Amino acid sequence: MVSPIEATPDPHSGTLIDRGEPQSPALEPWGLEAGATRPEPASSPVELLFELAGDLLATLTPSGQLGLLNPAWEQHLGWSLEQLRAQPLEQLVHPDELERTRSQLEAHSENASFKDFANRLRHKDGSWHWLLWSGRFHEGVWHTTARDITDNMQLARQALHDPLTRLPNRVLLMDRARQALARLHRGRSPVALLFVDLDRFKAINDTLGHAAGDELLILVAQRLRDVLRDSDTIARLGGDEFVILAEDLEGDSEAIAVAERVLHALEEPFRLGAADISMRASVGVSVAHDPAANADDLLSEADVAMYRAKGAGGHDLELFDESLRRQVADRLDIDDRLRHALPRNELLVAYQPQLRLDGRGRVGWEALVRWHPHGALQVEPSEFLPLAEESRLIVGVGEWVLQNACAQAAAWLRRERVRLTMSVNLSARELAEGDVAERVRSALRTSGLPPSALCLEVSEAAVLSDLDRAKEAFEGLKRVGVHLALDNFGAGSTALSLPGILPIDMIKLDRSLINGLDHDRHKRAVASAMVSLARDTRLRLVAMGIESERQLKLVRKLGCPVGQGFLLAPPQVPA
Ligand code: C2E
Ligand code: MG
Repeated sequence: MVSPIEATPDPHSGTLIDRGEPQSPALEPWGLEAGATRPEPASSPVELLFELAGDLLATLTPSGQLGLLNPAWEQHLGWSLEQLRAQPLEQLVHPDELERTRSQLEAHSENASFKDFANRLRHKDGSWHWLLWSGRFHEGVWHTTARDITDNMQLARQALHDPLTRLPNRVLLMDRARQALARLHRGRSPVALLFVDLDRFKAINDTLGHAAGDELLILVAQRLRDVLRDSDTIARLGGDEFVILAEDLEGDSEAIAVAERVLHALEEPFRLGAADISMRASVGVSVAHDPAANADDLLSEADVAMYRAKGAGGHDLELFDESLRRQVADRLDIDDRLRHALPRNELLVAYQPQLRLDGRGRVGWEALVRWHPHGALQVEPSEFLPLAEESRLIVGVGEWVLQNACAQAAAWLRRERVRLTMSVNLSARELAEGDVAERVRSALRTSGLPPSALCLEVSEAAVLSDLDRAKEAFEGLKRVGVHLALDNFGAGSTALSLPGILPIDMIKLDRSLINGLDHDRHKRAVASAMVSLARDTRLRLVAMGIESERQLKLVRKLGCPVGQGFLLAPPQVPA
């Protein structure tokens, strides 16, 4: 069984590609005299072909003594045929491949064969030439043909290695992982993949420059080589992602010990120019005990575990275990069902009124998507929207909500004949993907809703994830004539400068601030500052998540004119 990758062996490991199972250990004597000279000039068609063949043809004893050789040997290795025959195996074969070459030759029995066996032979000028061999054992000798693949090996090496660190790349890693898993069939110990991602590497790259970033990656690769076993494969997938393949482990605990060693090794500062940089990393570990395991799955499990480690603050390791496996399966399940939610009419829009706090009625609604899968429980937006955001499904879902909300608002406006605003949420993905202004323009056109009756809410976090892009999208939306709101203001590390940078009309104070008004002086001070900011910059202000009379009183006292919350009116799907 020879995979395409195996057919272009790694020159550094000198991979023995197909050893062929030894069939009988009996050692047959060689039938040809050791000192046999070059064949007489061709006298038969077979001899003529032997003379002309470009590949290297030979007979070999199980002990490695060359016998018949065609003239191509002279052209490829520089030695005369006599000189070749006079050399013992250890002088001709590269030391790294000597052992394997010997065991290949010794694994003989009548009709035993091998193919795609690679080793290096010494040229007369001292350089090493890669040969790719096939052979069959017949009447006491190996009959072999070999091809000089030195040039191919250079290309293969480039195709299988990362040019910066010279580590194996993803293709070679995955090939080795597949081979390691295949060995589990023969009762070998567990195999692990460790996904290593450097924390804050982007910041280092951005501050010290790309050349320094590259140098750091080379040093990291070297550090990993130093702390890991020679038999482990260390690969770089790209960027700051490294993956380690470790075989013959005792079990999960040994894989975790390897991960700890990696974390520890990277903590030791790296000297970069005049600076000492200490690196932290997140490591995800996935261990395969089962021969049926699949290398691609093993890698994505290690990746998921790494993300979990990073999500928990980084500089940590995480093992992909049963509970993580269940979470991933649930996620995939939701993702899969969400794909069908729109065509199956499982999505609805609920509307939550935004009310004046002086009791003078409603100023508008916020449209909030709801998902009721057929025959299953309702799935909360907080559960499915992040997945939809990752998988881009959010763009289709958002467009559908926008069209429905515009149509609903147009109908209510016709009925009530007052000035009211419909607010629709836009995620970071929706803002970045395609032409958001055109999607909004089209929803307005179809529904007949005037742009001034639509407000688009984008959370502070979404804006901060790519400020330049948000600014560009906001400017495009302003040209359509809609209002823009900064949502969940005060939820995170609020950038008070945002209202000055972006063309917004409204800010919505986050629920967490309103929640803390009665017991957290700091939150009260922040909320109060935001009310002043809105007043001074003539921005509309909405307080979110008012749940109790006490909160309502405090919000009013702060001078916030408009509120939204379960106390005032919950979101409702129109009948
Ligand atoms: P958001 O924009 O901050 O929306 C307000 C959320 O607060 C809604 O949650 C609403 O049901 C909830 N809420 C309202 N009043 C109260 C209250 O008094 N107490 C509490 N505890 N919660 C209250 P929901 O509907 O679960 O939506 C969660 C988030 O999902 C929204 O937060 C918004 O960011 C996002 N979202 C909802 N619908 C859409 C949509 O159609 N498109 C996009 N892109 N995002 C949406
Ligand atoms: Mg909102």
